[in-house]
Amino acid sequence: MAVPISQMWTVATYVLRQRWSGRKRYPLVLMLEPLFRCNLACAGCGKIQYPAHILKKELSPEECFRAAEECGAPMVSIPGGEPLLHPKIGEIVAGLVKRKKYVYMCTNALLLKQKIDLFKPSKYLTFSVHLDGQREHHDFSVCREGGYDVAVEGIQEAVKRGFRVTTNTTLFDGADPNSVRTFFDEVMSMGVEGIVLSPGYTYDKAPDQKHFMGRARSRRLFRAILSNRKKNWKFNMSPLFLEFLMGKRDYQCTPWGSPAYNVFGWQKPCYLLQDGYADSFQELLDTTEWSNYGTESGNPKCANCMVSCGYEPSTVDSGFGSISGILAMAKATLFHSYPDKGALDLLNQPVAPVHAINPLIQINAPQTVNSLEETHA
Ligand code: SF4
Ligand code: SF4
Repeated sequence: MAVPISQMWTVATYVLRQRWSGRKRYPLVLMLEPLFRCNLACAGCGKIQYPAHILKKELSPEECFRAAEECGAPMVSIPGGEPLLHPKIGEIVAGLVKRKKYVYMCTNALLLKQKIDLFKPSKYLTFSVHLDGQREHHDFSVCREGGYDVAVEGIQEAVKRGFRVTTNTTLFDGADPNSVRTFFDEVMSMGVEGIVLSPGYTYDKAPDQKHFMGRARSRRLFRAILSNRKKNWKFNMSPLFLEFLMGKRDYQCTPWGSPAYNVFGWQKPCYLLQDGYADSFQELLDTTEWSNYGTESGNPKCANCMVSCGYEPSTVDSGFGSISGILAMAKATLFHSYPDKGALDLLNQPVAPVHAINPLIQINAPQTVNSLEETHA
């Protein structure tokens, strides 16, 4: 496992403190979105579709610090939009690091080389670089030729300067598991600390609604990718979450585990859905109808969801919250190759090239919204 011991210790002791204090719902990772605008226009992105006056808005450093202190989570993920476009991103990150938050700054890295002097290497700071696969696949996914090469240059510069760096990959329907496995070899050879993975989620606002996966298809893809694992692959994620993606475990969503704060306030109920906003974190906890969310709720918006912001906190709570959870994590960490003949067979099955079934989406073109149901998988 790639997560440093000091970070694991911080998270483990935090989880135990929450459990011992009898707190039923607690945050693990604050999803802090200081702005929505971006210098890319990926087909699967639900953030950049806001009108121009919203895309111009930004959180101030003080608003970011207040949110971090109010919720108290030990980790802060800064997605967006592209956080490097925020004129005060250096100040925001430095302030969070000063507060001893483990910060994951998510970036497409197009500006990383140019802006890297705004940051200082720290055990509390990780650049989480958006790379959706091998060169051709990534460039197609982000609708930018040459995007992969610029991102890799950014990764190499950050690694050279002693920063913690992970890659962050979202997998959509049609992903070729063999290509993804080769991609893992490539990113590990860049010297990154680990890989972060997530299945795509159907955003109402995303222009490409056709190629998100149902749960069964997600499990099949992740089983093919993550079984028969190579020793040099490191994942900056809960090992139980990876088992969840492979279909070896089941969990209920804990959306309060990764609360989202952005220019509208605290988003209900999670980073993905927008069923209103609260003015404070406590109000978010108190006024959200949590039973309406998660796959078991019957809410169609949650039916296919397996994303990390909903389910990784569930695995961390379960992993650090009981002896059996600790043993399961130790087993998953020590014996993590997952030999699986059936998964090897899956790798030998033909895959339609993703570009053949996933034509480039024009952002402004009207799209037909297809709902993917579990039974479609
Ligand atoms: S880089 Fe991220 S925020 Fe920017 S368009 Fe792509 S998915 Fe959206
Ligand atoms: S299942 Fe997914 S979409 Fe639904 S609340 Fe959980 S994280 Fe959000």
